[in-house]
Amino acid sequence: MFERSPAERPMPTSTIEDYLKAIYAEQLARPGERVTTGRIAEALSVTPGTATSMMKTLANAGLVSYEPYGGVTLTGAGEALAMRVLRRHRIVELFLVEVLGMDWSEVHPEAERLEHVVSEKMLERMDALLGRPTFDPHGDPIPTARGDVATTDHPSLLTCEPGRHRVARVLDQSADFLRRLDRCGVVPGEVATVGARDDDGPVVVETTSGRHAFDRAAAAQILVEPVQDPATRS
Ligand SMILES: [Zn+2]
Repeated sequence: MFERSPAERPMPTSTIEDYLKAIYAEQLARPGERVTTGRIAEALSVTPGTATSMMKTLANAGLVSYEPYGGVTLTGAGEALAMRVLRRHRIVELFLVEVLGMDWSEVHPEAERLEHVVSEKMLERMDALLGRPTFDPHGDPIPTARGDVATTDHPSLLTCEPGRHRVARVLDQSADFLRRLDRCGVVPGEVATVGARDDDGPVVVETTSGRHAFDRAAAAQILVEPVQDPATRS
């Protein structure tokens, strides 16, 4: 008989899932670049040494391709697993808002825990009850059961043309920011009219609740799509 050293002990699934999700998010943020272990360490608040040894574990499991000093990319298997976690996370968030009546500013931490434990059977029931949704409460696309995810290419309040826009997605999902958007009526599905901008001033939008100014960093976190005006449509 031999004893396993700590390094050989199987990693908890939830830890692996959190790493895969973090790598996926970094890949999305910088398409085409390998993800450095430094960025993963920062995203998950672990030491670089911890992140590096985890990269080796994930590489041994066939979930990432890892080059020492060159960073990582998800393999097909790693990306499929990341999609399954994101699907659970986003369906859980929508369920908490739509069915349990929780606020969109408070569901993310709940989903961070539940995404690791919800069974496929329960997820399927939630998905059916919600009517096979394609977006979560923050406007994030929900991957399909097959692992496909819609790619959206929306401008932000900072980059869109002036005029009427529908709020499509909110990238900063901190509770404070979401509560502020609630007060301004700047939430997915609502219409906001974007005024003319100058090069470094705030972005002023008008909603049903009045006029609101966002600084440029905040404006970049709010993605929108133009509203087609029926009068001008041919
Ligand atoms: Zn979300």
